[in-house]
Amino acid sequence: MNIVWKLMTSALWLALCAAAVEGKSNVKKEVFGKLPDGTPIDIYTLSDGPVEAQVMNYGGYLVSLKVPDRNGKSENVVLGFDNLDGYVNNNTHKGTAYLGPIVGRYANRIANGSFELGGKKYSLAVNNGPNALHGGPHGFHIVVWKGQAIPDGVELTYLSRDGEEGYPGNLSVVVRYTMKQGTLKIDYAATTDKDTILNLTNHSYFNLKGAGKGNILDHDLRLHASRFTWADSTLVPTGELKSVEGTPLDFRNSTRIGERIDSDYEQLRVAGGYDQNWVLDSGGRELTEAAEVYEPTTGRVMRVLTDQPGVQFYSGNFFDGTIKGKAGIAYQRRYGLCLETQHFPDSPHHPNFPSTELKPGQRFHTVTAFSFSTR
Ligand code: BGC
Repeated sequence: MNIVWKLMTSALWLALCAAAVEGKSNVKKEVFGKLPDGTPIDIYTLSDGPVEAQVMNYGGYLVSLKVPDRNGKSENVVLGFDNLDGYVNNNTHKGTAYLGPIVGRYANRIANGSFELGGKKYSLAVNNGPNALHGGPHGFHIVVWKGQAIPDGVELTYLSRDGEEGYPGNLSVVVRYTMKQGTLKIDYAATTDKDTILNLTNHSYFNLKGAGKGNILDHDLRLHASRFTWADSTLVPTGELKSVEGTPLDFRNSTRIGERIDSDYEQLRVAGGYDQNWVLDSGGRELTEAAEVYEPTTGRVMRVLTDQPGVQFYSGNFFDGTIKGKAGIAYQRRYGLCLETQHFPDSPHHPNFPSTELKPGQRFHTVTAFSFSTR
């Protein structure tokens, strides 16, 4: 009797604690839609005052992010679609634009879709010219994650099986999106049971004027980076770390993105604009400001903080109006900008780059935060 009573009171206590956590966290879970095979997909709304983020468990997409302008008017600042079908259709057509998902196992490019680890050669699907891009056609942007509301956010978990998309090891991944005091934090963790490589990021396209309201050329950008990884014509680093001094890639002082984007500089010419990896001065050791974006007409400011060594600043050069995003608006060239915090592209082929290897017994852990204010 005593034991039964104890069990009942502890169950009641646990239920009360859970309710208290849920009440505080401002996290709402709703059904977003169904995949073509019938799998239901949820969307989680994380709100903190006027700032609100929506994340779904298909691909771990950041579906919307509402932040106020200098007059207090909140508006969505990430490109995306109004419904699940939009995301699924974009992923099934060749050349997905990755409008906001978690990207893995290896964000960015691996030359010729292969790498060696522990004396063994691994082959990946080639989906970007001669190279493998963003974890392959069935990467993390396309899988169904297990979602769970947590205080202030959502936790997404996924078990990527040994050999998935060619990568070795059973990889257990946990990504947490949380929203607090105007800051959206993304926390990535993973463990493996075999030596492997890993490079995770989020691939949101921002437009601080409001998604769909024109291009990002009038945004001011500051990057805390004195060097970048020089790349070949397929956007794969040659291994050389080059100074930004005297180049249109120098954003050490805040500069309008459109000011030099069309200059006759080889790295810009081959990429059709900005699409390079900057080497962060912080060295990728602790959470430090990597970038700041300012949009003068709305006054919105976004600071990007990360503990990663690099950031790919991509100015949406390949949008050509064929993708119809939220509210049916056609996304034209340079309608959004990505700041993909990550390890350098093609690291497995460059021993001079920080290592992307993960071994059994190690815990991969990295944090990136997007912090919003106005000026
Ligand atoms: C790459 C671009 C690519 C885009 C969409 C970015 O991370 O750097 O070259 O076009 O993703 O796949």
